[in-house]
Amino acid sequence: MEQSSNPGTVYLVGAGPGDPELLTLKGARVLGLAEVVVFDALIQEGLLSMIPKDAELVFMGKRCGRSCPSQDEINDALIAHARTGRTVVRLKGGDPFVFGRGGEEVLALGAAGIPCEVIPGVTAGVAVPASMGIPVTHRGKSGSVAFVTGHPGSGLDDPVNWESLATAVSTIIIYMGLTRLPEIAERLIAAGRASDTPAAVVSQGTGKDQRQVVSTLDNLFADACAAGIETPALIIIGPVVGLRKQFATLTAAALPAEP
Ligand code: SAH
Repeated sequence: MEQSSNPGTVYLVGAGPGDPELLTLKGARVLGLAEVVVFDALIQEGLLSMIPKDAELVFMGKRCGRSCPSQDEINDALIAHARTGRTVVRLKGGDPFVFGRGGEEVLALGAAGIPCEVIPGVTAGVAVPASMGIPVTHRGKSGSVAFVTGHPGSGLDDPVNWESLATAVSTIIIYMGLTRLPEIAERLIAAGRASDTPAAVVSQGTGKDQRQVVSTLDNLFADACAAGIETPALIIIGPVVGLRKQFATLTAAALPAEP
């Protein structure tokens, strides 16, 4: 790649949870300025049309048979593309700073002297429940919500203290937790969370292929397996899940489809 004396800016853009119309106006504007777009999941068609035709698209995700590039490799690619002097958009699902490793990219870019800006996105933990009629807080039902990762992490310590969390907040939203759900549910229940707490698992939330299962904390994993729900999926636990039926009817789509 040819180097330029002035590096281009890297924009870390939150693409939102799936539905391309949930991208922010600012994200759309920045996508329209992109000369290079670095992405790691499929770009929805709606977003593809916002990217200039001559922009370079760089895929840095999992390809069949090959493992994911490491975070260091992604950081290096962002730095190398910016050093060509072009405007780089790093497109990330949801919000770049919610379990998106956006912070690591900011630190790497900063250390390399590359200017960068973060464009927030709508995170799955808020948008996915809302899209199916679940408010993450609701006066009188839930005055607290925790967004946690179900991923065990790479160190020795689990990044989440499940025993403390069990009764600390009303709504628990778990990213990346489906494969570990049996253990997580067991630990939450053992630490005092009612086993019949309403709970849901959702995959492809806000997208055309959204799948969801609503159950109780103790039966959620079995019901999700029976329904064939696959990762990546979001887990929602708490009394607000019980509002879904009523809210789903009240909030049924009234927006006319895109022409
Ligand atoms: N930065 C992203 C989260 C990245 S972690 C955000 O702010 O939303 C990836 C995890 O997010 C997935 O494993 C899944 O748990 C959750 N997730 C993201 N998009 C989702 C969607 N459309 N439906 C369900 N879960 C989703």
